[in-house]
Amino acid sequence: MSRIDVMKDILQANIDVADQIRARFAYDRTLALNLIASPGAGKTSLLERTVATLKDEFTIGVVEGDLVTSLDADRIARHGVPAVQINTTSGCHLEAHQVQGALAQLPDTPFDLVLIENVGNLVCPTGFDLGEDAKVVIVSLTEGDDKPLKYPGAFTVATAAVINKIDLAPYLPASAAILRKNALSTNPNLVVFETSCTTGAGIDAWLDWVRAGCAAKKAARPDA
Ligand code: MG
Ligand code: ZN
Repeated sequence: MSRIDVMKDILQANIDVADQIRARFAYDRTLALNLIASPGAGKTSLLERTVATLKDEFTIGVVEGDLVTSLDADRIARHGVPAVQINTTSGCHLEAHQVQGALAQLPDTPFDLVLIENVGNLVCPTGFDLGEDAKVVIVSLTEGDDKPLKYPGAFTVATAAVINKIDLAPYLPASAAILRKNALSTNPNLVVFETSCTTGAGIDAWLDWVRAGCAAKKAARPDA
């Protein structure tokens, strides 16, 4: 078996499990978002902002992916939202079987919203389906406004992009407007948000998008 065949088998096995997760989310009418970003872009901070407000409107479960530690799951749990940590040890992305295992550890309630924080990496998480409704790419202004040009894959597969840490704009050579333009040049269908998890700027627009996604999933036929 060639290396390419082995990779094909791994990806197909991943899709098979992702399809099982997707079927469960369809049955429960759960909106599932897969958050992809570099380390330090602010995935967990955005998740904290999200659950702090939406926990009063929706039943939410969170799956956290990191190489080691349960620091991020602990941050979410502090908000009173159930969170399961996956430790990949050296794995640089989440795979569907890991998410399936984590979902089994969450309370056995049908969730309105499941948020999956992928391992910090803009490359291979883009190639692994986790049964989600949408991938969301988060990029902070501190990373530079050329990020979408250098890592187009993450922007191509995403439904939404969050440009985070806009409060730091005065101290940076990067521009949110240019970052937005570069993201849209990679994927013209992207819904783009500009946020600061520190000041709360732009968070309301992001939350409204998540609310609309939850409403659409609720209205969807389970077999759709
Ligand atoms: Mg994190
Ligand atoms: Zn990887």
